Amino acid sequence: MNKFYADSMLGKLSRFLRFLGYDTIYRSEEKVEEMLELSLKENRTVLSQSKQIIAQCSKRNIKSLNMPTKSITDQLRKLNSHLDLSLDVPPSKMRCSICNGGLKGREKTEIIDQIPKGTAKFYNDFWQCTSCKKIFWMGSHWEDIKKIIEKSKISEENEN
Ligand SMILES: [Zn+2]
Repeated sequence: MNKFYADSMLGKLSRFLRFLGYDTIYRSEEKVEEMLELSLKENRTVLSQSKQIIAQCSKRNIKSLNMPTKSITDQLRKLNSHLDLSLDVPPSKMRCSICNGGLKGREKTEIIDQIPKGTAKFYNDFWQCTSCKKIFWMGSHWEDIKKIIEKSKISEENEN
């Protein structure tokens, strides 16, 4: 499975890749040297909008892909067409959007005191990050994410 290191401009894309189950490192503050070293060591593809970073990657034989600046759908489309990246990863593979940790299914009774009352009433499936402990459920936010992912599966020419 593809693993990524996304540059500091690609916070939104990082969250989407993690939702899709792809191991993605993202730092809001750019650490170029760490990015290059870790990507080489862990066989990660560098995703960047910076020509300099892409150039450094090719110089050091690090896999990289230049990301379009336009929209999240364009970025996902490019990943899909250039790396054959699946946009249909099963929810069991989902990773934490905050810290890239793995998610584990939790029983509602186990975490009920850690979620809002209304949420406990309307949802039954919960996941918890094994690393930062944040709890996730497929709320209305999830529907928005799914819509964007579905839209990314349609090529630009066929949009609307
Ligand atoms: Zn986490």
